Amino acid sequence: MAYDRSNIFARILRGEIPCKKVYEDAFALAFHDINPQAPVHVLVLPKGEYVSWADFSANAPDTLIAGYVRAIGKVARELGLEAPGYRILSNAGEDGQQTVAHLHVHLFGGRKLGAMLVKH
Ligand code: AMP
Repeated sequence: MAYDRSNIFARILRGEIPCKKVYEDAFALAFHDINPQAPVHVLVLPKGEYVSWADFSANAPDTLIAGYVRAIGKVARELGLEAPGYRILSNAGEDGQQTVAHLHVHLFGGRKLGAMLVKH
């Protein structure tokens, strides 16, 4: 799937739409999810035009991959989630129910989280 520069996270990264920022560096931006599913629900995005984990892992430069992965760890640490624990998750494609086509990791915490998947 080709990257669409009009997606909402691209617009947030360009500063065209506001966000509740929690962290930013040269590689990543993190902000609170607009529809939180846990007491802490933060999204961490790489600064680069990548649709999904598959796209990013295959095509991003090593410096960005390293910077992004480190940023995710740093955000969890800075939010005080390391000791109590947390969950990271990235939805991809139709079966994964990804709704925004710019790679993002969800970071959940702040309470004992439920089952990993809802059974249907
Ligand atoms: P996904 O379904 O994995 O693609 O996740 C997209 C997430 O982005 C959802 O959890 C939405 O609540 C969240 N979201 C959509 N628009 C915004 C926005 N403008 N600011 C913050 N979070 C958003």
